[in-house]
Order: sequence, then C-alpha cells, then structure tokens
Amino acid sequence: LEIIRLENISKVYGMGETEVKALNDINLAINEGEYCAIMGPSGSGKSTAMNIIGCLDRPSSGNYYLDNLNVAKMNDEDLAHIRNKKLGFVFQQFHLLSQLTALENVMLPMVYAGVKPSERKERATEALIKVGLEKRLNNKPTQLSGGQQQRVAIARAIVNRPVVLLADEPTGALDSRTTQEVLDIFGELNSTGITVVMVTHETEVASQTKRIVWFRDGQVVHSHLTPEELHQL
Ligand code: ADP
Ligand code: ADP
Repeated sequence: LEIIRLENISKVYGMGETEVKALNDINLAINEGEYCAIMGPSGSGKSTAMNIIGCLDRPSSGNYYLDNLNVAKMNDEDLAHIRNKKLGFVFQQFHLLSQLTALENVMLPMVYAGVKPSERKERATEALIKVGLEKRLNNKPTQLSGGQQQRVAIARAIVNRPVVLLADEPTGALDSRTTQEVLDIFGELNSTGITVVMVTHETEVASQTKRIVWFRDGQVVHSHLTPEELHQL
C-alpha cells in the first residue's frame, strides 16, 4: 500500500534570472511500513522534497498523494490539518520548549489535535515510555542529555499516531552512542508499522534503514538502494 506518492513533482524557487529548479520532475513512491533514508549532496533537493512530503510547502507542478489524498492542490488550512493528522516530525535541533517538562512538551501536539485533556497525560506518558524515558517525565530539556532530548522529540512526534514519521538529520547533533539509541527507537517504531523517512548525510545512519533514495541535481537518481549497494557507490 502506497502511503507517499510523488508524481512528476517540480519545484522552482525565484523567477527569471534568479530561478532555481530545486526539483526537476521527480517520481517517488513509498509504501506503508517502509524505512527510508534520503541522501545526496548538499543542494540536491532533499530539503525541498522533505518540505513537500511534510506538507510544509507545495510543488510548482505535479501531484503529491499522501495516504491517497492529493495534497499538492490543497489550501493552507487543509494542508495544516493533514500535517497534524498524518505526520510526525523530528528535527536535528530537537526544537523542544525549554520552559516545559518532557511530559508537557509531548502533551502539546494533542492540545492542537483536540484530544481530551483527561487523555493527554496518559498518552504522553505512554509515548515517553516507548522511547525509554519513563523516569524523565518531569525533567526539563536542560536537565536531559542530547540523546534524551531527541527521544522526547520522537515521543512528541508519535503521540498523535502519525502514519509517517519524517526526520531531518535527526542524529546530526548527536554523538555515536546516542545516535545509536535514536536509531534503535526508529527501528522499533518502524517494526510496529510506522513508515519512517529520514534525511541523513551519514552513511552509517542510512545503512540501518531498509532503503536509500539518492538525490542529485534535483532528481532521484537511485530510488531503491540497499545499504550494501550504498557502500559500493
Ligand atoms: P540543509 O541542506 O542542510 O538542510 P538548507 O536546506 O538550509 O540546508 O539549505 C540548502 C541549500 O539551499 C543551501 O545551499 C542554502 O544556501 C539554500 N537555501 C536555503 N534557503 C534558501 C533561500 N531562502 N534562498 C536561497 N537559497 C536558500
Ligand atoms: P538539499 O537539502 O539537498 O541541500 P535543497 O532542497 O535545500 O537541497 O536545495 C535545492 C536547491 O534549491 C539548491 O540549489 C538551493 O540553493 C535551492 N533552494 C532551496 N531553498 C530555496 C529557497 N527558499 N529559495 C531559493 N532557492 C532555494
């Protein structure tokens, strides 16, 4: 079952002499339950593609189907709704609110999603247990290590039960040990059925996914590399 389908997607920034074609007619399908890494040199279009996949931006042309809905032509309000309902986001710099505890950070997306107050605490606790932070519920970000902060961010990303988890360089700010902690959590989440798509420039990180998509010059030049093939590149 296809959960993400990019069809002849192009994205142009600027106009006239300053025009940049960031994506040039790309096609990409990702099935429910896949675990993918998006790789490629700087400027190859990875962030642009992730912004479109994440419903943060619209393509200049082409169709994007997310869970069988054509989101390429939706207005901003519908786009925001789909984003909150279907997607979870993890970033390189965690983006936690420093004045809130881990539990409160994870409860926040449920406020926007309209989850009943009585349910929020229980679901946030459940998500924090999933990432191994049951002993850190009441700690603020400054009282947590980088790896622990990223785990709070992952709990926040999954608490509304997204169909796809999108991560942009999620291990970029972590050392190798905490990188592995975070990858173990992604692996476990993926094994429970969540589709995971992450941008990374680290070969060791991409090698732990099941499929590598390689961008170059605004195009998908390899759509199904295995970790073994990546090493031979
Ligand atoms: P990363 O690839 O690490 O995610 P960015 O997405 O911020 O980094 O930037 C990727 C490339 O896009 C860089 O070369 C950057 O200069 C360029 N870029 C990003 N935003 C803009 C912008 N608003 N105008 C022009 N170029 C931009
Ligand atoms: P990557 O994430 O692979 O580094 P990007 O998607 O950020 O690549 O960038 C693809 C191309 O689009 C680059 O040439 C970049 O400079 C350009 N670009 C990205 N964002 C903008 C923007 N907001 N305005 C103008 N050009 C941009």
